[in-house]
Amino acid sequence: MSKSKNPFCIKTIFKKIFLGFGLFLIICFLLLGVFYFDHKNKSELVEKEWNLRKIPIPLQIGTTETLSILPLINWHGSNSDLKMELGVSYLIKIDNHNILFDLGQNKLEEDPSPLERNMRLLKIDQNDIDSIFISHGHFDHVGGRRWEKENSFSFGNHQRDLSNKLIFASSALQYPGAVVKEIQEPSRLFEGAASLGPIPRKLFIGRIDEQALVINVKNKGLVIISGCGHQTLPKILQRVKESFSEPIYGIIGDLHYPVPSGRLNILGLNAQLLFASGSDPFKPISSEEIDSEINSLKELNLGAIGLGGHDSSDEVITKFKETFGQKFHTILVGKWIHIAQTFKTK
Ligand SMILES: [Zn+2]
Ligand SMILES: [Zn+2]
Repeated sequence: MSKSKNPFCIKTIFKKIFLGFGLFLIICFLLLGVFYFDHKNKSELVEKEWNLRKIPIPLQIGTTETLSILPLINWHGSNSDLKMELGVSYLIKIDNHNILFDLGQNKLEEDPSPLERNMRLLKIDQNDIDSIFISHGHFDHVGGRRWEKENSFSFGNHQRDLSNKLIFASSALQYPGAVVKEIQEPSRLFEGAASLGPIPRKLFIGRIDEQALVINVKNKGLVIISGCGHQTLPKILQRVKESFSEPIYGIIGDLHYPVPSGRLNILGLNAQLLFASGSDPFKPISSEEIDSEINSLKELNLGAIGLGGHDSSDEVITKFKETFGQKFHTILVGKWIHIAQTFKTK
């Protein structure tokens, strides 16, 4: 009579667990491999799309005599009554327009949201804002994950009436009762202001098309305002060169320099660095690449430069501060950055 194996024997149980775990690991590696090669393929297609882009006739957008920027949401702040978070939002004042650039993150779905609260404390009335410019559809720029999922945006938990605003987005976003103009190429928005047009990028977490705002300041030149900087600095500068005949005077906002580490930690992983910088998680942006981009900015002899802490580390911000000295503006929620000022602020 043959001796049958006891299924409850410790040795058999361990063997089963070991085999099950091994199988699980193999499936994970296979899935990761499929995801990685799909990412590589899509990255190549996006690069091809960029190389085949239409080069526009340089835009004539007119000028503004004034330009002041007030950070409403960012990582660092000027006083502790204001709320800071991972998101981005700026109020941009030019001669005849008050533009709201992005709408923050509202991670905890607070009511009022950090953006609404800061606007109230800084005495910014929604009625004074005539246009909304959305750099891209990520949750930290459209007012939260809920609105990102709905392909929409909001100041806070409740969508206000925005029917009287000019709204410009880099992808097909929807908003109840309002017209959202999807920008598809470098375009004049109104006197003195333009969109740089969406620049595509395949991040490990998916494709994103981001636009920067360009303001043409009289007797100074172009000031680029950047949301997340997913486009990468070389492509932003290339697009400006192709689309405008004026020189670049400044660049203010957020570029993507989360080195040595970013602000977003998911399951112990440095998410901004691994999944949203460089070409893939095995080749994220390096210090050397950042140094070379700083050098390309130095060559432009800029009159103003500001780098936010939204997706750049404090180490990189310090490097910018040391490199650009007096020309550098620290981006702090609640602290005006005056590029060309003719009005008084408190
Ligand atoms: Zn983003
Ligand atoms: Zn961002």
